[in-house]
Amino acid sequence: MPKIIIAGAGLGGLAAASCLMQAGHEVEIYEQAPALAEVGAGIQISANAFHVMRHLGLGDDLLRLGVRPGAYVFRLHDTGEVLQRFSLSAEHEAQHGAPYVQLHRADLHELLAAKARSLKSDVVRLNHRMASFTQNAAGVEARFDNGAVARGDILIGADGLKSVVRRQLWGDAPATYTGDGAWRLVVPVERLPEPRLDPVMSVFMGPGGHAVCYYLRSGSLLNFVGIIETDDISEESWTLRLPWEKLKADFAGWHPAIQQIIDCGDKDQAFRWSLHNRAPIRAWGQGRVTLLGDSAHPTLPYLAQGAVMAIEDGAVLTRALGMAGNIEDALKLYERNRVERTARIVEQSTFNRALFHLPSVQAMRDAFANRNEGEDRNAWLYSYNPLTVELV
Ligand SMILES: Cc1cc2nc3c(=O)[nH]c(=O)nc-3n(C[C@H](O)[C@H](O)[C@H](O)COP(=O)(O)OP(=O)(O)OC[C@H]3O[C@@H](n4cnc5c(N)ncnc54)[C@H](O)[C@@H]3O)c2cc1C
Repeated sequence: MPKIIIAGAGLGGLAAASCLMQAGHEVEIYEQAPALAEVGAGIQISANAFHVMRHLGLGDDLLRLGVRPGAYVFRLHDTGEVLQRFSLSAEHEAQHGAPYVQLHRADLHELLAAKARSLKSDVVRLNHRMASFTQNAAGVEARFDNGAVARGDILIGADGLKSVVRRQLWGDAPATYTGDGAWRLVVPVERLPEPRLDPVMSVFMGPGGHAVCYYLRSGSLLNFVGIIETDDISEESWTLRLPWEKLKADFAGWHPAIQQIIDCGDKDQAFRWSLHNRAPIRAWGQGRVTLLGDSAHPTLPYLAQGAVMAIEDGAVLTRALGMAGNIEDALKLYERNRVERTARIVEQSTFNRALFHLPSVQAMRDAFANRNEGEDRNAWLYSYNPLTVELV
């Protein structure tokens, strides 16, 4: 079995490591951070990634820690008028073979880290920021800022949006600012006055922005992501804190439920991420080196599929390694079977931005009146099972 080096212990790197180790591969993950951690924010996992979590024996944990939203509800930003509602929980599972769950990112990350460590206790090497790599017929060598060197047969760049591996392979991916800043807040539910939002996935849409609200951690927390059009470009980062007053001002005039969430949030915990667009790339790897997750297909969050795609990647990569006769063919098989799907998701996410930010209430009413969200619209997306899809 080849020895596999993974750069990055994010959701993608950890899920891939467990899939690979479960199939018998030797894996080492090198993570730049001094400790494994994820930010305080929500994440949605749909059926297409849930299959993989179940395969890793984590399905029950996901259901225990997460919330299954009853419905997807699209509302106007100020009056709250419902433009469209479709069922999510039982229907999603019946149609796509696994549940749709909303979780705290830290819970998902901890679960994946514990799984990987249960398969190999020292699988994650912290404080290793990968700087560069070389490869030849005999293997691949990864070098780190701390002077360490790791040798293996395969290198997977799961090192996120600003991937060093991707940069060495293909150069920096040009990024264009979308015009949107994404605020995030997580609020303990007991702080929120009654009546509270229903336990559904609520999307409030207004000209110039939209807000997504859903519950986490068995319903004890409410996650708020407020996306607003702004010329004030800041960092592409989960950890950039901005004044709460700015958040409050951005959502002035929005529905009372949105005001309550903002008012009940910790005033020093308003974070904002400037969202950038990157066109999908059609070539990911070279030789013994490939990409996975955001390093391969950075995406906007408007379809909630970035981490989901990263988890799918790990399952398909593992299968490809079991099918092809040599490493290069296996990595090509993986890439060939992932590029079109992930590019389609990235493009669909970009399209959703236009849908959620239509210029007038009438345009929103028209768009949602003609929209068939339920049955088939997203079948291609959610009915994909990375464990069973034919690899060609
Ligand atoms: C506002 C917002 C909401 C989102 N909501 C959802 C959602 O609901 N559902 C969903 O599926 N996705 C969602 N996403 C997308 C999702 O967060 C990402 O797609 C996902 O985290 C990508 O995982 P990853 O492991 O590829 O990268 P990352 O999570 O970025 O992990 C990369 C890891 O690599 C490490 N690293 C980086 N450089 C190096 C290096 N040189 N050497 C070693 N280690 C390195 C980092 O420290 C990190 O641990 C959202 C994104 C945003 C911005």
